[in-house]
Amino acid sequence: MYLSGGGARSEIVKNKAISMSTREKNKGPTVKDIETPVDPTVVTRALVIGGGIAGIQAALDIANSGYEVILVEREPSIGGHMIQLSETFPTLDCSQCILTPKMVETGQHSNIHLMTYSEIEEVHGEVGHFKVKIRRKAAYIDWDKCTGCGVCSEKCPKKVPAEFERFVGVRKAIYTPFPQAVPNKPVIDHANCIFFQKGKCKTCEKFCDAGALCWEQEDTIIEEEVGAIVVATGFDLYPMVNLGEYGGGQIKDVIDGLAFERLLSASGPTSGVVKRPSDGMEPKEVVFIQCSGSRDPEKNLPYCSKICCMYTTKHAMLYKHRVHDGQPYVFYIDVRTAGKGYEEFYQRAVDEEDVIFFRGKVSRLFEEDGKVMVWGADTLTGKKIEIAADLVVLAMAMVPSEGTVELFEKLNIPGDAEGFFSEAHTKMRPFESSVPGYFLAGCGQGPKDIPEAVAQASGAASKVIILFARAQGNPKSKTQKSEAEIQNRDSDVDDSRDNSLG
Ligand SMILES: Cc1cc2nc3c(=O)[nH]c(=O)nc-3n(C[C@H](O)[C@H](O)[C@H](O)COP(=O)(O)OP(=O)(O)OC[C@H]3O[C@@H](n4cnc5c(N)ncnc54)[C@H](O)[C@@H]3O)c2cc1C
Ligand code: SF4
Ligand code: SF4
Repeated sequence: MYLSGGGARSEIVKNKAISMSTREKNKGPTVKDIETPVDPTVVTRALVIGGGIAGIQAALDIANSGYEVILVEREPSIGGHMIQLSETFPTLDCSQCILTPKMVETGQHSNIHLMTYSEIEEVHGEVGHFKVKIRRKAAYIDWDKCTGCGVCSEKCPKKVPAEFERFVGVRKAIYTPFPQAVPNKPVIDHANCIFFQKGKCKTCEKFCDAGALCWEQEDTIIEEEVGAIVVATGFDLYPMVNLGEYGGGQIKDVIDGLAFERLLSASGPTSGVVKRPSDGMEPKEVVFIQCSGSRDPEKNLPYCSKICCMYTTKHAMLYKHRVHDGQPYVFYIDVRTAGKGYEEFYQRAVDEEDVIFFRGKVSRLFEEDGKVMVWGADTLTGKKIEIAADLVVLAMAMVPSEGTVELFEKLNIPGDAEGFFSEAHTKMRPFESSVPGYFLAGCGQGPKDIPEAVAQASGAASKVIILFARAQGNPKSKTQKSEAEIQNRDSDVDDSRDNSLG
């Protein structure tokens, strides 16, 4: 997930084809078709796939109701993209400060079995009775022996660009992605480790008093049975390589929004001091370009990524807080600020923070004399705009996480035309897939901000809890309707629409 992942455009085209074929297999996902069985043999243990804020919230809600959860995260730590953020709109609270306690609670919860650095291999079965194979990737460390002291990473001589730092910082070949990682245990990056590539080094082993290095470790496959699955696999950013007119990712001082978050973050590679990547200079003129890849049906992606207007406003504001004599410029198509306190936040940027907004698109970015030349237009005045910027930040579109296409196939649940997981019904069943037993949370279902991801996660968790509670034969009062009856009643509202929009 931290990777920018090349070739996402062809991945999206492929997504469309595969999501169509998967949809075919699950024909007719109307509200009426879905029935949650009342079945005492249902396995009351849930699988949550993805350990971002949505997966964490869903896992905690289910676990706090007394049910077991297996949380599978493919990276070495849970946290997802939220843990990469500096401060969060609209309140500007520190992202790590609000997320870390939930991460720790997840790691220590007696009902949550955390499987990081792991991926789903196969899923068979149906609601109440899924058989899942999970691949635990070799970390080359015995995590039971490792104390998380970090000495191995300190001593490792091999430095590589850090995915977590969005490549504006470095990490070692043996690493934990960030200091607050959960679990706080390192992994060895096989492709960059000197020992694995050249046959000698093992410096890390010399300094590990716990004897935790485990060079022969291999991937292991673990089989589990669960009754319900929450898919919370989140998003990636549309790779800059797709925007040739903006340098296609080749101009060092043109970065994406997540890289800028890392430059703003007090725990980031520059300790929160804004420095441009090419020469470490403090940028005095910064251009932010919204809708980079979004709302461009001809060349890129047709949809609105929903959060970029807000996070670009935040970026411009935070830049101004760090560089008081700096000038932020924002190019936008429209400013969309639908959310509690969002419009007020935007107005503050305009009225109090001296951010200059241009309504218009940027046609070209190119390097000249150590600057990034920005050619654009202000459609409100009809004037051409040219800015010699020190740094340009692109609000790249949100796309489904890399590997979502493969996950559609493994889970055999439908996706929409853009490659996100499809909900059973846009209005009435937004937390569920049309295939019974699968529930959806967070940006894997579509672009959204943190409050919306958390709300959807709690909604999905409540659906899982209802399923388990009913299966266990919780007392049903005479006035209570069965889940199937409720679903049939819901279907009277509107089930004319197949929500797999592709
Ligand atoms: C630049 C930027 C700034 C932002 N600023 C704000 C802000 O200020 N306020 C706000 O409200 N929102 C903000 N957001 C939005 C916020 O980041 C998202 O709403 C939030 O991270 C969504 O959480 P999630 O759990 O759905 O997805 P993610 O954070 O993407 O987490 C998904 C997790 O699933 C894992 N995963 C993916 N595929 C698999 C798989 N196959 N198997 C196992 N694990 C998998 C990933 O590794 C990841 O850990 C910002 C976004 C960006 C890009
Ligand atoms: S030195 Fe050993 S105990 Fe310490 S973090 Fe590294 S592997 Fe774990
Ligand atoms: S063997 Fe050397 S390069 Fe590999 S992780 Fe250990 S210290 Fe780093």
